[in-house]
Amino acid sequence: MAEERSRRVFLSTTAALSAAALTGVPAGAEEPDVRGPGERLSPQRPDAELRAILREIDEHRIEATVRRLAGFGTRHTLSSQTDPVRGIGAARDWIFAELTKSAERSGGRMTVELQSYLQQPAPPRIPVATTITNVVATLRGATTPERVYVVSGHYDSRCSDPVDATKDAPGADDDASGVAVAMELARVLATRRPAATIVFAAVAGEEQGLFGARHMATLYKAAGTNVQAMFTNDIVGSSKADDGTRDPRTIRLFAEGVPTSETPAQADIRRAVGGENDSPSRQLARFVRSVAENDATGMTVRVIYRRDRYLRGGDHIPFLEQGYPAARFTEPHEDYAHQHQDVRVENGKRFGDLPEFCDFPFIARVARVNAATVWSLATAPGTPEDVRIRTNQLTNDTDLVWRRGSDPDLAGYEVVWRETTADDWTHAIKVGDRTEAKVDLSKDNVFFGVRAVGKNGRRGPVAFPTPLS
Ligand SMILES: [Zn+2]
Repeated sequence: MAEERSRRVFLSTTAALSAAALTGVPAGAEEPDVRGPGERLSPQRPDAELRAILREIDEHRIEATVRRLAGFGTRHTLSSQTDPVRGIGAARDWIFAELTKSAERSGGRMTVELQSYLQQPAPPRIPVATTITNVVATLRGATTPERVYVVSGHYDSRCSDPVDATKDAPGADDDASGVAVAMELARVLATRRPAATIVFAAVAGEEQGLFGARHMATLYKAAGTNVQAMFTNDIVGSSKADDGTRDPRTIRLFAEGVPTSETPAQADIRRAVGGENDSPSRQLARFVRSVAENDATGMTVRVIYRRDRYLRGGDHIPFLEQGYPAARFTEPHEDYAHQHQDVRVENGKRFGDLPEFCDFPFIARVARVNAATVWSLATAPGTPEDVRIRTNQLTNDTDLVWRRGSDPDLAGYEVVWRETTADDWTHAIKVGDRTEAKVDLSKDNVFFGVRAVGKNGRRGPVAFPTPLS
C-alpha cells in the first residue's frame, strides 16, 4: 500500500479526474528509478497541418535567397543605404519587397515594416551616426494576437576588418542563412492562421554590437508586448566542420540557465529553490526538442546549456536583457575560415563567407526545426503565469497554484515533474481545467512545472514555479 499511496495525486477540489491521473501508473515503469505519479512524457508529434507546412519549406528558394543576399557585395551596417545595387540599403529594400510579396498572400493578416532609428556614434564599431533598419513581418494571431513569438536572422555582414564597409562581405552563412530561414517561414506561414502572433525579422547592426535586435527588443518592452519566445538563427548555413566531417542532422540551440535579466531578489529565490537549470529559456529549449526532433524535420536539436558560444553573443541577448525567453540556433561546427574573413586564397586555402560553402538542404532542415517550433508555440496555449508552490506550512507533498489563462482554446493544465538530475521533464499529471493541484511528491526531491493544454491537444512551454509564502 505504501507504494500505491506514493503514486496518488491529490487535488484540492472534489471534481472528477481522469483515471490515469488518479492511478498514476507511469508508462515508464521499466525505468524503476523514475517512478511516480502521472504518465511518462513523450514528444509532441507533428499533425497533418504541421507536416504540410514542413513539406512546403523549399531548399531551392532558400538557396536563391542566400545567393541574392550575397550578391549585394557587402551588407555592412556602415555601407551605402542608397546605392540600388550594392550595400545594406539595397539588401534592405529587397528583403522588404520579398516579405511584402508574402504578406500579399496573407489576407491582410501579415504586415511588413521598416523599423528604423538613428544610432548615435558608438566607437569603435559605429564611428558616425548611422541609421539602422530592421525589416519586420508580423503575422497577426487569429485568437490571441497579444501573444508574440519572434524568429530572426541578421542581414548585415562583415569582412575581416569590422569597420570596413566597402570590401566584399558576402555573409552567406553569417547570416544570409538565418535571414533565409526567417523569410522562408514568412512565405510558408503567411497563408495560415496561427492562434498567436508570429514575427519574422531580418535585423541589422548585429556585427557592430547587436544594435538592431536591441532596438526591436526595447520597442517591444516599451509597448508592453508579451513576447513569449524569441529565436535568433545566426550561422545556420553549413553542416561541415573545418576538418571536413559533416553533421548534417544536428542543430545547436544555445539556452541560458541563470537569466541575464535576473534581479538580486530573483537570485535569492533561485538559490533557495535550486532553479539554476529552469530559466524560461531552458523551458523553451526543452519545448523545441519536444516538437522539432522528429521524422518530419529529420533533425536532432543539440541543446547547449549556455547563453551563447564561449565568450560570444548574438541577437537573442537583447531580448534576454528585457526579460524575454530567447535562444540561439547555430550550425553544429563553425568554420572560422568562412566567417568574418576577407574573400581570398592564402597558401591554397580559401577564405570568405561564400554561398558555395553553404549546405542548402541543411538550411532547409533548420528552417523546418524553426517552423515546427514557432507553429507549435503559436497554436498551443501560452506559457502559464503566476505559477507558485504554496509554502505556508512544511509538508512532504507539493501544493501548486497558478493563474488561469484567457486563451479561448485552453482545455486545461498538466503538472510536470522530473528528478533533479534529469535534464528534461519525465512525467505529466493531467489536472484538467483548474488552477491548483496537490501532488504527493516532495518539492525537496523533484522539480515541478505547469503547462497548458489546448483543445487541439497541443501543450505549451512549461512554467517553473516560484514559492508562495
Ligand atoms: Zn552572425
